[in-house]
Amino acid sequence: MKYYVLFGPPGAGKGTQAGAMVERYNLCHLSTGELLRSEIAAGTALGQQAKSLIEAGNLVPDEVVEGMIEAKFRSTKGVDGFLLDGFPRTIAQAQVLDKMLDASGEDVTACISIMIPDQLIHERIAHRATIEGRADDARPEIVENRIQTYHAKTEPLIDFYRKAGKYEEIDGMGSIDDVRTRIFNTMDKF
Ligand code: AMP
Repeated sequence: MKYYVLFGPPGAGKGTQAGAMVERYNLCHLSTGELLRSEIAAGTALGQQAKSLIEAGNLVPDEVVEGMIEAKFRSTKGVDGFLLDGFPRTIAQAQVLDKMLDASGEDVTACISIMIPDQLIHERIAHRATIEGRADDARPEIVENRIQTYHAKTEPLIDFYRKAGKYEEIDGMGSIDDVRTRIFNTMDKF
């Protein structure tokens, strides 16, 4: 099984590119953000716990997302691997992921990182807010908090995966098609 970590700041285009990636490589797309939003929509206890954190632009506790990921690893059949989108988001989550995979003799295949400059992050999220209607895209101060959380807690993962020899950076500027081609050229190596 292949385990790809899809990495990048908010608005880099992870969700946009994920569909084509899962189709071409027969992967299961696991977006912790999407899983959490459907828990909120379904009104589950987990969703209620996560709602205020997400809407303030803060991370939900590591154990919550780790539990969701592990359950999906167990229940998903018939794919050649997983595309982890929005997970891991902290070094602690990355270490837990390594342990989970190690238990079955597997490991992360590569971290596919889509990079855009900070200034473009705001533009992309403002644009998405008009299309998807996400509560955490609507208020500038919440978006700012997510960007700061990204820099403080998630960006250190770049070094984590670089040291493991698994970091593959892709230029996220340009058209959706151009970025997709760059991603495919990288993933074809694995
Ligand atoms: P996303 O759709 O990836 O932008 O995630 C939306 C929100 O869900 C984030 O701002 C966090 O509040 C929460 N979330 C998603 N994935 C994680 C994660 N791996 N760890 C903690 N919180 C997460």
